[in-house]
Amino acid sequence: MKCYTKTIAEIRDMYDNRQIELDPPYQRKPAWKTKQRRLLLSSLFNGIPIPALIFHKHFISKKMKDVYDVLDGKQRLETILHFIGKKELKDEDELWVDFKNPKTDKDDYLYFDDLRLKTVNKEYENILEKFLQYPIPIIEYEGDLSDIFGRNVASKEVFVRINSTGSPLKKNEIRHALWSGLFFELGTQLEKKYKNLFLRWKVISKTDLDRYLFHEFILELCTACFEGNYTDKRKKLDDLLAQHKWTKKEIKKVQKTFNKVITWIKEIFPDDLIKVTRFKNKSDFYSLFIVLLKLEQKGYVTNDKKTNKIAGRFLLTFSKQTQQLDSKYSEKVITDIKLSEHEKKLAPYINSTRQATDTQRHREIRDSYLMSVLKDGFFLKPKDTRRSFDKNVRDILWIELMEKTDRPKCPNPTRNKKCKKYLTYDDTQVDHKRPWSKGGSSKKIGNAQLLCSTCNSSKGDR
Ligand SMILES: [Zn+2]
Repeated sequence: MKCYTKTIAEIRDMYDNRQIELDPPYQRKPAWKTKQRRLLLSSLFNGIPIPALIFHKHFISKKMKDVYDVLDGKQRLETILHFIGKKELKDEDELWVDFKNPKTDKDDYLYFDDLRLKTVNKEYENILEKFLQYPIPIIEYEGDLSDIFGRNVASKEVFVRINSTGSPLKKNEIRHALWSGLFFELGTQLEKKYKNLFLRWKVISKTDLDRYLFHEFILELCTACFEGNYTDKRKKLDDLLAQHKWTKKEIKKVQKTFNKVITWIKEIFPDDLIKVTRFKNKSDFYSLFIVLLKLEQKGYVTNDKKTNKIAGRFLLTFSKQTQQLDSKYSEKVITDIKLSEHEKKLAPYINSTRQATDTQRHREIRDSYLMSVLKDGFFLKPKDTRRSFDKNVRDILWIELMEKTDRPKCPNPTRNKKCKKYLTYDDTQVDHKRPWSKGGSSKKIGNAQLLCSTCNSSKGDR
């Protein structure tokens, strides 16, 4: 460990040289408010000591240079970098620094641009130079960290422990600090891809984003994708993060499944309509996600636009009815006595959302209700597992054609209106009238027709 100082100018140059890693995977997101940033700047100007920055220095051979992970002092560093115009901060305007004017002894303030003005530097005797040469205390660790017994200590653990400023870390933030790796990174990737969508859906809030709650939620959903079912979310998630050795193939599969289910939800609720339903609550969203996940994995048809739209309308109505019932009965558990037949069916679902929503039993109730209505009411058909027709089908269809005419024409049912080709046996292909991907059967010969190869492949492109 080394203790020394670096001037603001030196820190600026290191940052320009990409040697300062402000966001090692275990860092937390911005938490300072403008007020705290102003206080720091005026401390710098008024000679009030500020706590040391803690760096972890390591050599990155790919870049051929030393890089300093910020273990502590991210907010302080960012504030300085923002003030001198090196780093944008969301939700933060240009900052100024308060100080006591040495000539008038009155409160004064300056922007960094002011510090660069000739007149200002003349008035305050090279104030820019003085500011840039101001020394910042630094504690630097290098290489592997070890405890007094010489045992290795992971730098992320140091970060969790020191965390000298700001509020104590929440459990999910500690998780964020402790784990990295493929599965964790997948969460980060999906977080980036879907944060705007989930914000529009109102499933998450901005605070969720800042506190890593969205990241956590995504990993819970990914855990379900991996397991193919709901799980004891938190525990399983910790297991997967800590103990499971992820392969790239597994990660890809989880990612693909996640994307599929989200795309499906987008079709079920066009125009972000999910935001007016109860499915914007995380526990209801989770239930819906799991049910769709299971249907998808059982091979149910997921991309039939019409069915999805109708299912969406049903879910909207379902949501409205439960919301009405929910507000009508204020007691904790809705009992059966005064309910209509229809309400009786909805009551268990509502009850399950009123108490400990995450318990396995309550999740099962919601899950089985949604599963039964969606499976029996909408997504009736599992896809045929066979993508193509039996090899005899082409011959059978050809013989049938021959029975009708000597010179069969391509029936051109697609966009290819110009196709008037006469079919020859060698140029024909068997086409699904109703596409396989939309639930068209590969077993019923009634769903098969012969097309010329051009038309068949142009249909496949759609
Ligand atoms: Zn054709």
